[in-house]
Amino acid sequence: MSRTATAAVLRTYGAPLQLEHVSVPDLRPDEVLVRIRGVGICHTDLTAAAGGVPIPVPAVLGHEGAGIVTEVGTAVTRLAVGDAVVLGFDSCRQCRNCTRGRPSYCARFAGLNYGGTRSDGTTVLQDANGDALHGNWFGQSSFSSLAVVTERNAVRLPSDVPVALAGPLGCGLATGAGTVLRVLRPEPDSSIVVFGLGAVGMAAIMAARIAECTTIVGIDPNRRRHDLARELGATEVVSPDEHDDLGRHVRRLTGGGADFAVEAVGTESVVRQALSSLGSPGVCATLGLQAGRNPITVDQTHLLGGRTLTGVIEGDADPHRFLPELADLWRDGRFPVEKLVRTFDFTKLDDALDAVRSGEVVKAVLTFDN
Ligand SMILES: [Zn+2]
Ligand SMILES: [Zn+2]
Repeated sequence: MSRTATAAVLRTYGAPLQLEHVSVPDLRPDEVLVRIRGVGICHTDLTAAAGGVPIPVPAVLGHEGAGIVTEVGTAVTRLAVGDAVVLGFDSCRQCRNCTRGRPSYCARFAGLNYGGTRSDGTTVLQDANGDALHGNWFGQSSFSSLAVVTERNAVRLPSDVPVALAGPLGCGLATGAGTVLRVLRPEPDSSIVVFGLGAVGMAAIMAARIAECTTIVGIDPNRRRHDLARELGATEVVSPDEHDDLGRHVRRLTGGGADFAVEAVGTESVVRQALSSLGSPGVCATLGLQAGRNPITVDQTHLLGGRTLTGVIEGDADPHRFLPELADLWRDGRFPVEKLVRTFDFTKLDDALDAVRSGEVVKAVLTFDN
């Protein structure tokens, strides 16, 4: 039995996504079919659509999906029809890093998340002419009303969180929050500075408040985001263009330098500003993805003062453990996802993409009328 779905298809790098009818085949034993209720737009989708990530085209992107399980393969044991799920990235669950709880560094991460096919090279989606479409983007390709995923990356949600808004927990929000709560692990009363107040940076600010940091500095040139950052926990918000020496300004705000910096932009100049904001000792985590190679010059003398520069993918957290924790924090009002989100009907995809590119919305979520 084949099923049809509406999906946004990337035919050529740099071209607009097109809504098309696609067909979804019978499930393999380990697969799960999810009717998507909402899917966030992440900058990695935009980077991929522009050709900056090696997923083959034609392809269906989207990797912050959440929805309802409508069918399960014969070998699926942990999920059942009717379960609400949020979709994380895919990982093999078997390699050394996966088995020690660090699946974002899975040995097979690239193939499983960017390969565009199942592990055996087959594709899960077909277009209206019966031609193969690449899918399995982050194990989900959820810019589609139906997504074929596996038990490995579908995480059951508590029934009382709004499923349509939950998708961004799976990538952007887990990235920012996981970096603070799982990697940096600030002690109470620490100081932290967050560069870039998109969804990743805002999640880092919410997590810094959860971790009881007392000085939380948010930095972004987009002043429309400053009030929201304050509401979510920032104690100071700074426009970088107002300061010739931003590092010195942050060191002053943090009483000699921040204990921690989260850098959610990824350009060399911002990484260098983040490093120069640190006290001694201090740790800077860089998260922003820029296409291709991205060399950065670091002053070794500066690092000698007990400073660390580290990179983090997907918050270095296991979605099966971390996403339910974030859902609980959301329900308790401590991780208010809804304040970051503006919803757009899936048919208004172009409006949503424009709003993301212009910085008008922090997190756009495409919703499905299903
Ligand atoms: Zn693995
Ligand atoms: Zn993402």
